[in-house]
Amino acid sequence: MRWSRSLIPTFREVPADAEIVSHQLMLRAGLVRKLAAGIFTYLPLGWRSISRVATIVREEMNRAGAQEINMPVLQPAEIWQESGRWSDFGRELMRLRDRHERDFALGPTHEEVITSLVRNTLRSYRQLPQNLYQIQVKFRDEIRPRFGVMRAREFVMKDAYSFHVDDESLDHTYRDMHDAYSRIIERCGLDFRVVEADTGVIGGAESHEFMVLATNGESEILSCSTCGYAANAERAELRLPQTGSEATSTTPEEVSTPGKRTVEEVSGFLGLQPSALAKTLLFKVGERDVAVLVPGSRDLNEAKLARLAGTPILRMLEDAEVRKLSGADVGFAGPVGLPPQTAIWADRSLEGERDFVTGANRTDAHLRGVRPQRDFQVERWGDLVLARAGDTCPRCDGRFESSRGIEVGHIFKLGTKYSEKMSAAFLDDGGRERPYVMGCYGFGVSRTVASAIEQNYDDDGIRWPRAVAPVDVLIVPVNVTAPAIREVAETLHEELSAAGVEVLLDDRDLRPGAKFKDADLIGIPTRVTIGERGLREDKLEIRNRRTGEVQVHPRSELAGAVLESLRRENAD
Ligand code: ATP
Ligand code: MG
Repeated sequence: MRWSRSLIPTFREVPADAEIVSHQLMLRAGLVRKLAAGIFTYLPLGWRSISRVATIVREEMNRAGAQEINMPVLQPAEIWQESGRWSDFGRELMRLRDRHERDFALGPTHEEVITSLVRNTLRSYRQLPQNLYQIQVKFRDEIRPRFGVMRAREFVMKDAYSFHVDDESLDHTYRDMHDAYSRIIERCGLDFRVVEADTGVIGGAESHEFMVLATNGESEILSCSTCGYAANAERAELRLPQTGSEATSTTPEEVSTPGKRTVEEVSGFLGLQPSALAKTLLFKVGERDVAVLVPGSRDLNEAKLARLAGTPILRMLEDAEVRKLSGADVGFAGPVGLPPQTAIWADRSLEGERDFVTGANRTDAHLRGVRPQRDFQVERWGDLVLARAGDTCPRCDGRFESSRGIEVGHIFKLGTKYSEKMSAAFLDDGGRERPYVMGCYGFGVSRTVASAIEQNYDDDGIRWPRAVAPVDVLIVPVNVTAPAIREVAETLHEELSAAGVEVLLDDRDLRPGAKFKDADLIGIPTRVTIGERGLREDKLEIRNRRTGEVQVHPRSELAGAVLESLRRENAD
C-alpha cells in the first residue's frame, strides 16, 4: 500500500466539534469522515481496522460453534408489530415507507427477523440448539449521536441469536458467548471488565455487558471490591436503609416556601437534611400519569423505573403538564392531593418513613409530616434510586467504587419473550409445541475500534494495539528523491508483503518532519526508517510506536528483524 496513491487525509488541528480523543484522532488520522450527524464513511485505514476486528469476531464466533448468515437490513413493519416493538422501540427505530405505502424499518437489531426465520425452518428439538450470527450495519436514530463512531446512527455490529429447548441449554451457550467475547476483547489488546447490565428494550432475564475501561467512557461502572459484584450504574441494585423518622404528626401541615423549588433550597430554608424530603417526579407511563417518589438526597434511576413499569415507554411531564396535573408551578408537586387517577410509585426506602416533607401541589408551599399509606396510597414500591460510589453493596457489606467504561458487547438471556410473542415453537420429543428459549449477543465492531483508540493514544497520536492496527508496518523513506533510499524502501516493501505482512509505504515527497508527525499520528505499531545516514552506516532503524523501543539492524537483516519482532509480539 502506497501512501501517495491512498486516501489518508491527515491533518493537525484538533477538530472543534469532536469532544473526545478517539473521535478527534479518527478524523485527524484520516480513518473516517462525517457525512451527517452520526453517519460516517470509513476511509481505507479506518476500514482496515474495522475489518481486523470483524475477523477476530468471526474467528471466535465460528470457534464457539456459531454460524454466519446475513439477514436483510430492510424489514417489514409486520414482524415488529408482532413482537410489540413497532411501538416499544420508540423513536430510535428508523422507519420508512415503500411506494405501496407499506411501513418498513431499518434494522437496529434482528430478533424479529431471526425469530421469523427460525420458526419456519428449525421445527424439531433434534435440530436445537443453534446459534446464528451476522456482521452487518445497524441503524438507530439515537437521540444524541456523538463521540464519532462510538454512538453513531449507522454502525457495524455483530449480532448473534441462539435457540434452545430449555434454560439449561441456553445457559451453556450463554457461557460460551461470555468466553468468546472475553477472548475477542483480549485478542484486540484491550483492558475490559464484565458487568451486570440492564436489559433495556431488548428485554429478557439476565444480561452482561463487556466494558472497555476508559476515563471518557459513557457508562459508569459500580463495583464492590469485597465480593466482586460489578454492574452498570444504570442497573446496580441498591438496598438503601429505611429512613424511618420519628412519627410526630397526625396530619400533614402546610408550610410556606416562597420560591423554594429544589431539594437544596427547601431543606436549607426549613433547616432540614435533604433526606428528610422526598422528591416527587411526574411521569407519563404509557397513557397513565405516575408520581414517582425518591428520597430527597438521591436521584431517580429511569432504567429501574422502566423495569418497575414493565415498559420503556415513559417520559417526564413537560412543565405545562406538571402545572395542569399538580395545580402548582414546577417544584411544588407532592403525593398528597393529586388527581385520583394518578398512580404513586415510591422507592422502598421510603416505606418506613413516618414524617417527611413533600411539595404541597400549591405554588410556594410544601407539606411537613407526610406519611405514606396514611396520607396517600402507594401503588408500587421498588428499587428506584440511582446507585453511586460509597453506597453499600447489596450482596455484602462492602462499598461501591466507581469507574468508567465503553460498552462494546452485550449478551442477553431472552428466554421465551420473542418466541411467545411471535408464536415461534418447535416440536419436543413428545411431539408437543414449545416456544424456543432464546439468547442474543451483540458486539459493537465499529465502537471497538474507537474504544481501542480511547485506551491507546498519546500527545502525538494513536498507539494501535497490534491486532487492530490498520497495517502492521509503516516504511518511511526519509527522502524519496534519493534513488538508493527509494530502492531499499521498495525492496523491503516487497519482501515484507511477500511474507504476508500488511505494509504502508510512505512514498510521498515531503519533508521528513511532516512524515514522522503523520507516522506518529496514524500510529502504526512498527515503523522502519530508511535514511541517508542509516544506509551509509548500514544501521537502519525499527521503532515500536507503543513502547518507543528502537532497534538498529544492517540492511541485509532488516526484513528478518521486522518479521522476528512481529512474531515475538504475536506470541506474547
Ligand atoms: P448503549 O447503551 O450504548 O446505547 P445498547 O445497550 O443500546 O448500547 P445493544 O443494543 O446491546 O446496545 O447493542 C450491542 C452493541 O452494539 C453494543 O454493546 C455496542 O457495542 C454497539 N452499539 C449500540 N449502539 C451503538 C451506536 N449507536 N453506535 C455504535 N455502536 C453501538
Ligand atoms: Mg442504545
